[in-house]
Amino acid sequence: MTSVVVMHWFRKGLRLHDNPGLLQALSLARYGTENDDGKRNAKNGGEGGGVGGRIYPVYVVDPNCYQLLKCSVNRARFLLECVKDLDNSLRERGSRLYVAIGDPVEILPRLWDEWKVTHLTHEADETGEPYAVERDEAIRVAASKAGVEVLACPSETLRPLGNVPGGYVANVGGMAINVPSTMSSFQQLLSRIDRGNIPPPLDAPNEIDFQEGGRDANYDDKYLPLEHPWEIPWPRGYSREEIGPVWNRVDCLDSSLSPIAKGGETIALRRLQLTVTARPDWTASFEKPMTSCTEVSSPSTTALSPYLSLGCLSPRTAWHAVADATKRAQAKTNRSKPPVSLHGQLLWRDFNNLMAHSANIQHPGSWGRMTNPYCREVPWSSDPKLLLAWKGGRTGYPWIDACMAQLRTQGWIHHLGRHSVACFLTRGDLWQSWEVGADHFEGQLLDADYALNSFNWLWLSCSGFFYQYFRCYSPVTFQKKNDPNGNYIRRWVPELANLPAKYIYEPWTANVGILNAAGVRLGANYPRPIVDHAVVSKENMSKMSLAYKEHNDRQAATKNNGRKATP
Ligand code: FAD
Repeated sequence: MTSVVVMHWFRKGLRLHDNPGLLQALSLARYGTENDDGKRNAKNGGEGGGVGGRIYPVYVVDPNCYQLLKCSVNRARFLLECVKDLDNSLRERGSRLYVAIGDPVEILPRLWDEWKVTHLTHEADETGEPYAVERDEAIRVAASKAGVEVLACPSETLRPLGNVPGGYVANVGGMAINVPSTMSSFQQLLSRIDRGNIPPPLDAPNEIDFQEGGRDANYDDKYLPLEHPWEIPWPRGYSREEIGPVWNRVDCLDSSLSPIAKGGETIALRRLQLTVTARPDWTASFEKPMTSCTEVSSPSTTALSPYLSLGCLSPRTAWHAVADATKRAQAKTNRSKPPVSLHGQLLWRDFNNLMAHSANIQHPGSWGRMTNPYCREVPWSSDPKLLLAWKGGRTGYPWIDACMAQLRTQGWIHHLGRHSVACFLTRGDLWQSWEVGADHFEGQLLDADYALNSFNWLWLSCSGFFYQYFRCYSPVTFQKKNDPNGNYIRRWVPELANLPAKYIYEPWTANVGILNAAGVRLGANYPRPIVDHAVVSKENMSKMSLAYKEHNDRQAATKNNGRKATP
């Protein structure tokens, strides 16, 4: 006799390990709730009890959600692989994933009715991402009408962001919220919460946890995971012809260490094992600025970001894997510290999430826009030609174009490559708004993340969190010392592959004979530089200086007005 029917809705946390919402769902299905209210049991034809319930693990392929709306075919494929992997793992435990397509606000109530659902669990979306907020509110209203109890569990950061026990904000004085806006003040805050300890991850459930209630034989042929991205009803509609070549492309799929080998929790955990657990000395001594962004074969960092951003890997699992590996490192190995260590990287991630949360609490939906409270107003210009050249890797600066080619092909680039191209588009060279850059990244990155992407664009454009606009990356010299032969450029800009090393970063300095010998025809098969870095970077610094002055003047005026207004 089924009395409790729980739907667990997978959204961003596409995993079984360290998934508090899923464990909550299983516990409800197995033991019922203490305050189970007869009405719900009557709806299911049962009476009292609550033991022996059923669980429906669900994923809705929603073309309008953040993860799919703008995404490239690469990421759609990666996402579908994650969903498939989740289904496989659930099947190994005697359950399965029910995959529906469309708007969750329409689909879920229909399924609640069909399956007589009494409880809905899911991970809490704490960043305040506008679409998720609106969707979740609509679901809450629909659930309340349908008598379905909703439980949202924070799980995608090391600690909950919101004002809940154990969360970042709750521990700095409840209502008197004083959210840190620098990494060092964030670290100080963290050290005050349970002395900086991060809660251990929760185990994945096993087949016993699912019991026989994890699979409904009536639906064996229905709600199966999608196999191909062209089955996703994207508003802009990719065709099979467009997707086919990407789907079959092997250059981003073959290596076991490729950052984007394949989506899914299984590979995420294997990758964590390979990069972190199996390399205690590397993990203990990791310093982000010392990693190389011109690696051609395999990344010099963990490349776990796509897995973290889609929740195939829990940040707490990653944190404790790093801690365990560090403990096992040899005594003589240098132990790096945040913010440059691997723990530091995970702290940046939480800090970025906290900033998004805080911005959206102050001005709902503002994160990711220039209206967000952490963003300085800078009078960017808007030149579609410059933007197009940047997006297409046709700026004439080989280092920038190589990064953009890797982004387009693999959906991933090293952090410092992202630094370079973001600085180049905004304050460095092209003076285009960080919003358009962030938008393009959101479409291309496998790890596109609502909080992290905008935070980093704010930082690189010196619009928020980082203000040293007079420190600018040179698109020519920045990587010359790390990769003097330009192997990275040769890999990603094959038109330049035969140029002598001396000219690989600045082909326009080579004479016609050298260019001809290398098969390079400037302005034909490879562009001339679209701007003169030496000139525009200086002009842009002056513009930035003026924008900062105007910002300070505005702030001073607001303060003065405030003073006058006070009796
Ligand atoms: P590792 O160095 O191995 O770090 C481990 C994890 O820590 C990462 O997977 C990531 O989750 C987190 N992390 C690392 N660096 C940062 C950082 N600077 N800020 C916040 N968290 C960090 N990262 C995304 O995941 N999604 C994005 O949309 C994104 N957009 C970016 C846009 C720009 C302009 C820039 C400069 C950076 C962006 N980053 C983004 C941050 C960073 O570049 C990537 O997280 C990192 O390069 C991923 O590689 P990794 O997994 O090997 O990182």
